[in-house]
Amino acid sequence: MSNKPLLPTTEALRALDQAHHLHPFTDVGAYQKSGGRIVTRGEHIYFYDSEGSKVLDGMSGLWCCNLGYSQPKIVEAIHEQLQVLPFYNNFFQCSNDMAVKMAEAMAQVTPEHLNHVFFTNSGSEANDTNIKIVHRYYQILGKPEKKHFIARNNAYHGSTVAASSLSGMTFMHDQYTGIDYVHHIQQPYYFGEGGDLTPEEFGLQAARELEKKIEELGEDKVAAFIAEPIQGAGGVIIPPDTYWPEIQRICNEHDILLISDEVICGFGRTGSWFGCQTYGFKPDLMTFAKAVTNGFQALGGVMISDKIAEVLAQGKGDFAHGMTYSGHPVACAAGLATLDILRSQHTIENMAKEIGPYFEQRWKSLEDHPIVGEARAKNMVAALELVKHKGSKERLAPNAAASIVCRDQAIKEGLLVRAVGEAMVCAPPIVCSKQDIDTIIERMFRALDYTAKQYLR
Ligand code: PMP
Repeated sequence: MSNKPLLPTTEALRALDQAHHLHPFTDVGAYQKSGGRIVTRGEHIYFYDSEGSKVLDGMSGLWCCNLGYSQPKIVEAIHEQLQVLPFYNNFFQCSNDMAVKMAEAMAQVTPEHLNHVFFTNSGSEANDTNIKIVHRYYQILGKPEKKHFIARNNAYHGSTVAASSLSGMTFMHDQYTGIDYVHHIQQPYYFGEGGDLTPEEFGLQAARELEKKIEELGEDKVAAFIAEPIQGAGGVIIPPDTYWPEIQRICNEHDILLISDEVICGFGRTGSWFGCQTYGFKPDLMTFAKAVTNGFQALGGVMISDKIAEVLAQGKGDFAHGMTYSGHPVACAAGLATLDILRSQHTIENMAKEIGPYFEQRWKSLEDHPIVGEARAKNMVAALELVKHKGSKERLAPNAAASIVCRDQAIKEGLLVRAVGEAMVCAPPIVCSKQDIDTIIERMFRALDYTAKQYLR
């Protein structure tokens, strides 16, 4: 008889999961009845579940495994670091060598004026950190009343109390008491909210909502505007080209700090290293997480502009903020290995030349399907809108039920995509080949066909 422990069956795992594990963004009661998929292995752009199904991961984990699951250099770097220095903190006049190296590497890969980093474990903590940095900045400048933040409807900036306040998802706000100095404005969602305007007109109009809000609150009270270059979890809201230049103008003219949340857009997704470069704007602060370690270790942070760093350096006393694992050496080793791959293999530049445009073009061809009202993509991030009739924006079913049907069918076809409201969202690893992209499109098309059959009889 072998001594090898028997692997628990899917049923046993599922029962334990239901009995003991509360999941993020999951209906607790429903999950305890239904259970879910248990993923047990990842390889290249595929994951496998406990029942042996192989699924092409069209969401790169949770928008984080941009290089897919098979990256031995990152694994080796983690393993080596664990043997040399598994932990040391960065508090109290101390540093660890990996955090130092990672800070320098981040200064090199980010836009020129961003040369300082504050490390966190996650995107949520990084956005909380943004609030504290901004408040400290204005306090040192003698303007403590400049403390209000403006964010956008339907934005996702994380789950901690402050980050979910920045988020513009009302279903989140309904469940807790948020902070009271955050305000939300319209998102640049042309398909849903553009009305009769051209995209260019709508982009300007949506941006000018920021100016209106600043005027309403008073310029001397508004500290910062935070947004993703492309709103990801909100349904891949790709702004019209007129949007970001106008936002930049408004922030400059009204002395408002601009924060780019690059937790999804960072590290190549939109065709440049960072989304602010794709759209040509200059953030004062930049949030990162997820793909910085290819999702292999928990690491996030804020990149800080020289303008802000100089003021912070004038403050007397400690900047009273930090996490035990800020700049964790193992996470930083994973980050360094990830950046090393991206830089030495020119992964982002190569993707932006070939695979990104190919994915865009193939994804947009889904617009030929009768139930697709719009298919939009920017390099390796995409969405499509499900509709009942081409040309009309009438939806297939109430309560976005059709997108759930479509998502579930896509998984049966071997493709993981996400349902966000009435949209199907896809952000595959940036290391996909053309053949992989073709597979994504074929499977998506079949899921759309199935969905159409359910609703258009
Ligand atoms: N900002 C954005 C834009 C995100 O998409 C996310 C996570 N999806 C976060 C912040 C929060 O990051 P985390 O889950 O690492 O806390």
